[in-house]
Amino acid sequence: MITLDQIRERCIEVGNCWEWQGGTSNGFPKVYLPKADGTRGGHTPARRYVMKLMGVELKKWQTASPKCGNPLCVAPHHSVAMTRSEVASRAHATGFSRTATFRAKSGAVSRARSKLSLETVQEMRLSGLSTRAAAKKYGISQYAAWRVMSGNSWQDYSSPFAGLMGAR
Ligand SMILES: [Zn+2]
Repeated sequence: MITLDQIRERCIEVGNCWEWQGGTSNGFPKVYLPKADGTRGGHTPARRYVMKLMGVELKKWQTASPKCGNPLCVAPHHSVAMTRSEVASRAHATGFSRTATFRAKSGAVSRARSKLSLETVQEMRLSGLSTRAAAKKYGISQYAAWRVMSGNSWQDYSSPFAGLMGAR
């Protein structure tokens, strides 16, 4: 039995987050649980386990998600039960995601990128517009506007190889 204190000892506190320093699986924190009789145990998703320690039994179709958006965070006060579709929309909102949703949105960003000139990008960044207003003004999705304005896209634009480096 691993206690919440033992979990915490394996984390670095970053702000209010407990950032997991142990092993991960597909980027998700996992914890090794020995069996009660001392025989070989197995790994289990750390956040899910933390929620169990807090008395929350997740259903099969639920995932323990970090509401702070930090994929390595296992803080009990940041973990919430979500369904897969909630996770996808949440990832969209926070920008943290390695899911199919993210790849689809990245496609939207590439399309937006080809629509925008460097001047437009600079203008967008200096405009002080909200992503919503910028998206409307330039005819791109809010997500694409956010990516461009937050510097997640275009950061290599000044390089002549930017077009080649763009796909990741
Ligand atoms: Zn957190």
